[in-house]
Amino acid sequence: MNISPLAQWGLPDAQRPIVIAGPCSAESEEQMLATARGLAGTHVTIFRAGIWKPRTRPGSFEGYGSRALDWLRTVKKETGLWTATEVASPKHVYEALRTQVDLIWIGARTSANPFAVQEIADALKGVDIPVLVKNPVNPDVDLWQGAIERLADTGLHRLGAVHRGFSSSGKSLYRNEPQWQLPIELRRRLPQLPMFCDPSHIAGNTEWIEDLVLRAISLDYHGLMIETHCNPAVALSDAKQQLTPDQLRKLLARVVVPKTTSESPDFQRKLSELRAGIDECDRELLELLAKRMEIVLQIGQIKKENNIAVLQTGRWDAIVKTIHERAEQYHFSTEFVDKVFKAIHQESIDKQQHLIIGD
Ligand code: PEP
Ligand code: MN
Repeated sequence: MNISPLAQWGLPDAQRPIVIAGPCSAESEEQMLATARGLAGTHVTIFRAGIWKPRTRPGSFEGYGSRALDWLRTVKKETGLWTATEVASPKHVYEALRTQVDLIWIGARTSANPFAVQEIADALKGVDIPVLVKNPVNPDVDLWQGAIERLADTGLHRLGAVHRGFSSSGKSLYRNEPQWQLPIELRRRLPQLPMFCDPSHIAGNTEWIEDLVLRAISLDYHGLMIETHCNPAVALSDAKQQLTPDQLRKLLARVVVPKTTSESPDFQRKLSELRAGIDECDRELLELLAKRMEIVLQIGQIKKENNIAVLQTGRWDAIVKTIHERAEQYHFSTEFVDKVFKAIHQESIDKQQHLIIGD
């Protein structure tokens, strides 16, 4: 896949993190200009605004549509900021291109739909515009990668991903659970892909944005998309999560960007020594797991001979209780040990079932 690094995107300023900011929705020319004037002259280089808004229920504000594109153009003319908006159909693409929007993004609901993504990709054939792909609402890294591949297949090369969190059915503090391992996996698969974080849609409020920004920066994200409104209290959508331009400016001033690496020989030497230690731990962990699985198979064998069910709930319960007690001793969270031991338990069940039932 041919993906250009951000340094080759032709951005007005490619200093990391690249910041995209602006209102959830374009509401009026005054609101757009007031917000953009507050952002101009800060570290923000790209002005975002939703023109067509995907809303969960009908009857909510769905954006002003095409006429709001003129407001975006006015912002560009007056401030010099790049402009960006969300597209969800070929019609949106044609209109955004006609009004010279500089960057477009595909929203979380759309990136979950391969038909819609393919139609957008087809509409972009022969066009050279940067496109960001938000993660699909459901935590499916293949679907996210697939959307990016559909766009790359049409010849687009200025492509990036936006991590905006995932819907969850359970109770969550976040509006959309971050599930940081998913974007990490996407970057492992597509190492050249620029990665943005949208803390606004992850948090759903303004209090946690700074914490999320710091986390994203520590994970070496390339950019941020942060919803910003000149008067958030009266915003027609996502009022609770939008910062004022002044709040955003102060937040960005507090953020210290870490370096990707250091050439210092002392740092490099210490790092390789410690990494050798990690590699040894990983080798021992695997060896121990293999030893455990050997015993699991021996137990499977006697269960088979005595016609005993694989799952023994009482025994599993006892293991969980012991593990929770020990987790405390080693300062591990119960969530962490639960995840690790549930994975081990499931693999043990699979091995015994394979022995008893076959494939
Ligand atoms: C948005 O950026 O305003 C938006 C609708 O985002 P998402 O697709 O992440 O919900
Ligand atoms: Mn929004």
